[in-house]
Amino acid sequence: MRTMDQNLQRELIMAVATSVIANAEELTSLDQAIGDGDHGINMKRGFEAVLTDIDGLATRPLPDALHAIGMALLMKIGGASGPLYGTLFMTLGKELPASPSTEEVARALAAAIAAIKTRGKSEIGEKTMLDVLAPVQAELAGGGAELAARLRRRAFAAADATTPMKALRGRASFLGDRSIGHMDPGARSSSLMVAAVCDVIGG
Ligand code: ADP
Ligand code: MG
Repeated sequence: MRTMDQNLQRELIMAVATSVIANAEELTSLDQAIGDGDHGINMKRGFEAVLTDIDGLATRPLPDALHAIGMALLMKIGGASGPLYGTLFMTLGKELPASPSTEEVARALAAAIAAIKTRGKSEIGEKTMLDVLAPVQAELAGGGAELAARLRRRAFAAADATTPMKALRGRASFLGDRSIGHMDPGARSSSLMVAAVCDVIGG
């Protein structure tokens, strides 16, 4: 796996932001089915704000860049997911060194998941972003060969696996059983971010 430097940091931020922005319509239609239809717009606004400062974000030490991304997402995304994605990136910024190992990323992601749970009063199995982030963290912590490719597959499979689940948190939970049969928009956006990171580090 590549070691962190300014080029890699720029590529990672660009890849995550452009993937979310390119897939905003899909995220919106998922949220139209079981929410209020704003997830794509929300996420696009957040990551467009990130891209306005790509030069600054690429050249700062990784922890500072992650903190700044978290702040931008917190302020710009809004909804339920803004504070939660803000928490994800800010916690990663707090926990990670400038050039982290795979093990350090796994530990930092575990801390970020715990912080999201606290902030969202949520648990795994409630049909949210946590149902992608937690299995990805478990796969990452296990390490091994072809890790980026496996993480990518795991992220997409975990997002798919939210389809038969019943939402117990967030706006989708208001639908009760009618939330069953639709993929969770936040699970999908999380899988896109993980896949974007994997494409850069594995490719
Ligand atoms: P809102 O629901 O306020 O319109 P968004 O549409 O931007 O916000 O985001 C919805 C996504 O946020 C959901 O699909 C889900 O993945 C995630 N989410 C909502 N509430 C929680 C929570 N309490 N804990 C974890 N994730 C949550
Ligand atoms: Mg919404």
